[in-house]
Amino acid sequence: AKELGKSRFKVFNQKMHDQALMLMALETDLRRAVDLNEFEVVYQPIICLETREVCGFEALVRWRHPKHGMISPDQFIPLAEDTGLIYAIDSLVLRNACLQITEWQNRFGTMLSGPLTLNINVSGKHFGQSMLPGQVKRALEDSSMAPEHLNLEITESALMDNPSIAEDILKQLKNLGIHVCIDDFGTGYSSLSYLQRFPIDVVKVDRSFISDVEDNLDSQAIVRTVFSLGESLGLKIVAEGVETPKQLIFLESEGCRYVQGFLFYKPLSVEEATSLLVKASM
Ligand code: C2E
Ligand code: CA
Ligand code: CA
Ligand code: CA
Repeated sequence: AKELGKSRFKVFNQKMHDQALMLMALETDLRRAVDLNEFEVVYQPIICLETREVCGFEALVRWRHPKHGMISPDQFIPLAEDTGLIYAIDSLVLRNACLQITEWQNRFGTMLSGPLTLNINVSGKHFGQSMLPGQVKRALEDSSMAPEHLNLEITESALMDNPSIAEDILKQLKNLGIHVCIDDFGTGYSSLSYLQRFPIDVVKVDRSFISDVEDNLDSQAIVRTVFSLGESLGLKIVAEGVETPKQLIFLESEGCRYVQGFLFYKPLSVEEATSLLVKASM
């Protein structure tokens, strides 16, 4: 038994060692990816239920690794946050997406029922940094994008980890004329008072509540509460992760106006999103 214990320990150790090596290699790769801009932005449509039309896009980053192929953000964002590379990555995505949305707006804007909006994800770590408002300002200027069509998505914990810094940064962001959106709403923080304290414009109900809304009464109650809260606080509510017609029927019956999810579209490449806009503007 003792022998076995020892060898197990050895295996465990070897595994940790391998993982550490892999992480180090990945970090080197990620630095290079930032230098060479190996990132791509895909765009998931946000649908306005009144018109059933695309009213905007959420920009989502992908890493096209030369050896490993497409890597999804869940696999590299945590490392990017630990290494501080997230500032450069978020900023690249922001710049590219602002330029892209402006191009689409110029080409298709007059033929759509309203202006296209752009949602951008900002990591909580990045949000707490004083450089963010300046980066947003520059991205808006360089793309000539109208600030009121930009929504910055942040999580509840990004706000609540350091509320007084958050308050200051939000003030600067709002002064630029952009909108602020709470992402993954309902998962991060138990108190709702921050919705009043901070100048929030949009709330995205987390996918976990939508996915079992068909048969989970608690999720139904939560979703209902968020919609009525939105009504009384003047917030725009987006339901994310809508996958089934039944979910959609429930959401519509509760007064939901904006949805995002695989029932409508997966995140699209620039080419795919462009063809979608061509069709929508015919
Ligand atoms: P998120 O901001 O909550 O983004 C939504 C995620 O859910 C996306 O995954 C999207 O592809 C996926 N999704 C959308 N509709 C559905 C659906 O109907 N069903 C299911 N099962 N999934 C759906 P993705 O693109 O892999 O992104 C994962 C997370 O990575 C994002 O979650 C966000 O937190 C982060 N992320 C993505 N892009 C960026 C970025 O540019 N900067 C930062 N800081 N984070 C990013
Ligand atoms: Ca998001
Ligand atoms: Ca989300
Ligand atoms: Ca998320």
